[in-house]
Amino acid sequence: MRAARRRSNTIASLPGFEEESSDFTHDAQLSKVAVLFPLPLPEPFDYCAPDAWSLQPGDHVIAPLGPRSVRGVVWSVETKSANAANLKPLESKALAAPLPDISRRFIDWTAKYVVTPPGNILRMVVRSTEALSPSPTYAVYAPTETMSGAVTPQRAKVMSEAAREPATGAELARRAGVSSSVVKALVEMGALTRIDVPEDAPYPEPDLSLPGNSLNAQQDAAAEMLKESVRAGDFQAVLLDGITGSGKTEVYLEAIAETLARDPSAQVLVLLPEIALTQAVLARFEQRFGTRPVEWHSAITQKARRRAWREVNDGRARLIAGARSALFLPFRNLRLIVVDEEHDPSYKQDDGVAYQARDLAVARAKLGGCAIVLASATPSLETLVNAQAGRYRHVKLTARHGVAVLPDVELIDLKIDAPDKGRWLSPKLVTAAAEALARGEQVLLYMNRRGYAPLTLCRACGHRMQSPDTQSWLVEHKYSGRLVCHLTGFSMPKPKECPTCMAPDSFVAIGPGVERVEEETRQLFPNARIEIFSSDTAQTGDQVRAIVERMAVGEIDILIGTQIVAKGHNFPLLTVVGVVDADLGLKGGDLRAGERTYQLLSQVAGRAGRADRPGRALIQTYAPEHDAMIALSKHDRDGFLAAEAAGREAMGMPPYGRLAAVIISGPDEPTVNYAAITLGEKAPSADGVDVWGPAPAPLSVIRGQHRRRFLVRADRGVDISAFMAAWRERVKLHSSVRVQIDVDPYSFL
Ligand code: ADP
Repeated sequence: MRAARRRSNTIASLPGFEEESSDFTHDAQLSKVAVLFPLPLPEPFDYCAPDAWSLQPGDHVIAPLGPRSVRGVVWSVETKSANAANLKPLESKALAAPLPDISRRFIDWTAKYVVTPPGNILRMVVRSTEALSPSPTYAVYAPTETMSGAVTPQRAKVMSEAAREPATGAELARRAGVSSSVVKALVEMGALTRIDVPEDAPYPEPDLSLPGNSLNAQQDAAAEMLKESVRAGDFQAVLLDGITGSGKTEVYLEAIAETLARDPSAQVLVLLPEIALTQAVLARFEQRFGTRPVEWHSAITQKARRRAWREVNDGRARLIAGARSALFLPFRNLRLIVVDEEHDPSYKQDDGVAYQARDLAVARAKLGGCAIVLASATPSLETLVNAQAGRYRHVKLTARHGVAVLPDVELIDLKIDAPDKGRWLSPKLVTAAAEALARGEQVLLYMNRRGYAPLTLCRACGHRMQSPDTQSWLVEHKYSGRLVCHLTGFSMPKPKECPTCMAPDSFVAIGPGVERVEEETRQLFPNARIEIFSSDTAQTGDQVRAIVERMAVGEIDILIGTQIVAKGHNFPLLTVVGVVDADLGLKGGDLRAGERTYQLLSQVAGRAGRADRPGRALIQTYAPEHDAMIALSKHDRDGFLAAEAAGREAMGMPPYGRLAAVIISGPDEPTVNYAAITLGEKAPSADGVDVWGPAPAPLSVIRGQHRRRFLVRADRGVDISAFMAAWRERVKLHSSVRVQIDVDPYSFL
């Protein structure tokens, strides 16, 4: 057997890994160990390690990979292996608890489904390497019985503070009003003893003795059904389908309470769209369970991240609220997943590994045999069809809580009720707003476009200001005086003269954005308190909370917002919602354009009349005959979705068929073209599968990358992931060309 020695430059610098166990000698019994790395490699690599290490699948290890030492996770172990001796030895094993079996199965399943190497999914699971070591500690000082030196008044003060509550030296000195040398002296004479406290303390347990709100009869029945599903203890999917304001959150909070109470080790995950920005719902969790849920999203600190990961991995964190990436946390005993606003497009990740978190959440619940609740007032067609087919239970809430009723929805036909030239608000909408303001109520104007105007045009030569990276139009932002590309973030000062014909001051702004609507609103209502709510005016969670709070307490009269306002805010004084341009989302030929427009506008309309004052929603459109508009005005969601479903079924489109996209991109256009054509030639032919393309992507250039697309449609019974994997394997493309596969695409750009 080959004696293996650890190389010198490796683990000593990596906290949390056992250094001493890395040397082993030729007479040891060896295991053959397959290790998956968080890298885009096709499969795990084999190594050897002494049986004495007692490695198990899921253990975090360090292994030599080329010239480097790389972290990886044990995928399988064969002890007493006869042919392990020729393998390279592992270097060390981490102290952290192994990745749970279910996490590994979920990684393998997801990798296959989204057609990516499993290492890419592992990278999303093991996000915080610091979490693999025990928490760092800090020293606090507590009194002992010993006091060898003189008891000066200063020392006595420190001792009494330490007796009250042990603290760091600096904190004790501050509380006692003495210099830190006094504390130091007490430590040296043995009067104070050092205690090492972990920086990342375990989270407080949810308090299950607190009562929930008393539910109305319909809510109570819904909560009972959810609890029943939890009690079943295996995979159960429930669509919690309730109109805005019906109390879906109240109801699923009871299912969470039941889950946590039934099993002291149970963990619950609540996925929330845009959790980093809209945190109001977390306060409701806190009220219900006496403690905030553990948060997981892009805005938490590195320290919070490692703490959350470690506590979830150790099974101590019990209630987690997070963005889509929280699905990849290493839950040990996940018993319930809630996907709130399950229709929300932010559950789909398009960059990097493309995945739809709602769908993966259902897969995770199936793999782990747990309950999942999908909550929405406007469920996606995918989910609704699953419910109608009996694959999910369908629980409905049809009334708003208390006296609140759904708002009246009126369509304003812009062809008939046209605003004046250069204006965007129709006389009807202006009148409704004025009436609300006169009653001391609030108005929300919804315009899903940031900035002042979407197009800046030279009136002398017709030149349109375009983004150099994407060729899309630059959007004027008046407050910053810049032209901005909303796709890439590129921006430039608005030029004084046209870059083509050099005419000075020749630019005109075409079309409205929120800033332009605000300008008009200020002219119409000079005394009103008006604010814009968009990702430009509210970039952080604190800024969002501040605007929402001002609106909630009535410090704003007219709020002009992008889709950020559509999320579940409750504004009791808001009675008039005006949708300035309802047709925006209908353009672009997206498969789900109608469905999304319906979802978004009914969420926005649902902000009106959430308390005791009835609300009105006025929707300005050039297409009042569109199915989505008619359905909005009649509150006929089901009729609308039935028509959508029939259309999709006739075309074999999701959810009645499957889609996958391929995006080929690279810096050199001819090379990208060549690659696209080669790939197209190699497409396997299979029954029930259509391959369309290659075609230039609608966004044919982004940041200097030329893009071509394929769209694949398959019958529902076809394993589209296997088809895509087989196709991808047939072709070797130029190294400058990137191929991204997007199974179940939501973006067609
Ligand atoms: P949804 O999630 O369906 O939009 P919410 O759960 O946010 O509805 O409820 C809407 C509002 O009504 C919230 O302010 C909530 O606190 C209140 N509410 C709903 N049900 C109850 C109840 N049973 N008791 C007290 N308040 C309730």
